[in-house]
Amino acid sequence: MKPVWILLLAAVAAPLAAQQSPCPTDVFLDVGRFPGAGDDYPKPHIEVECEEDTLVVRSNGIPHYEFIQITPNPLLETDREYRFPLRPELAEMPTPIPLLGTVGVAINGIPFFGPNEGGVPYPGFGDPIYNSIMDACMGHTAREYHYHALVQACLAVDIKPGEPSPILAYGADGFAVYGPYSCADQDCATVVKAKSSWKKLRDPEIDAWDAFRYEPQQGPEYLDRCNGHDHGEGYHYHVTESWPYILGCFSGTPSPDAGREAAPPVSQGGPRRGPPPPDQPPSAEQVAAAAERLGIDTEALAEALRLTDGRIDPMNFAASARTLGIELGALRDALGLPARRRGPAGPPPARPPAGGEEPPCRFRCGTSDPNAVGCGLTPDYKVVCTRPCDNNKCG
Ligand SMILES: [Zn+2]
Ligand SMILES: [Zn+2]
Repeated sequence: MKPVWILLLAAVAAPLAAQQSPCPTDVFLDVGRFPGAGDDYPKPHIEVECEEDTLVVRSNGIPHYEFIQITPNPLLETDREYRFPLRPELAEMPTPIPLLGTVGVAINGIPFFGPNEGGVPYPGFGDPIYNSIMDACMGHTAREYHYHALVQACLAVDIKPGEPSPILAYGADGFAVYGPYSCADQDCATVVKAKSSWKKLRDPEIDAWDAFRYEPQQGPEYLDRCNGHDHGEGYHYHVTESWPYILGCFSGTPSPDAGREAAPPVSQGGPRRGPPPPDQPPSAEQVAAAAERLGIDTEALAEALRLTDGRIDPMNFAASARTLGIELGALRDALGLPARRRGPAGPPPARPPAGGEEPPCRFRCGTSDPNAVGCGLTPDYKVVCTRPCDNNKCG
């Protein structure tokens, strides 16, 4: 056992105040104390240490609670290393989060992604929670097990009613992601439930990024477009019940080393590829050349690509292609972009009721009875799947 692991074990028992220690090993879960994903899976593993100004998290990507398969992909052990700045700073401009792949890591060593799925439904980037392809902890398997939202009850072992929530994750820019409850001021005289400032415009089933718009709101509970704020205690993010659930963008500078796949054993024949890098906005020259190739107006193409409205959310070429009424491949070709592989197939999305504001239930539970709905964990971290879901709340 490595020395850092012993350090982590000792730190887990420390009170919350110890979170101010320079290296936040105590914030992470001692996953070895939990039952793990099940008898058929390796035990969860996490190591946390600090190297000068860098927080280093190594994990095998196995959840510390029972794995309930929702999407067709199996749960696989994936060794990853996450390196974040220990003292993050706000960047001059926010950076889009990747449309696919790691945005940060939760305190149990499981990565979290953005608020859209890749290729479910193909070729869109729908809201995976709205499309009911998440388990009770808002995780599921694709290339690896990952979250699209964070459930405090699945991660935090010590929640005190009326107090601000603990840290649940770190973004790739190094800023902490807290649970839903926040101090409303510097002295923390008032605690509020943090709220997203993204407004739902339409059904996010196919293209989540086009279905929500950021509209700044008044009030200490409302977060900025990245889902963060600073009331004088230092910038941080909060999870929210509604979109974008975790991060809407990076307020700091994302580390390029957040979630690199660790070198696999020699027997597996060399390194595997990580998630594809996010698409960068095309240059003005690329747009002009593509417009000529497609025989359309340059301005119309720029507008369809949402380059003209101050957007900072990830590029969504599928949505742009639909706006233009052309094939996604044709648009990517014209822009000189490499083709994207088809995303992982999921079960057909559950359609929301006509005219309904929210989906009838946040997730389905279990694969033996796909119609069973329910949520929550038992005290020993078993997923309970049989409780009825009423108006988005567990019965
Ligand atoms: Zn996903
Ligand atoms: Zn806060």
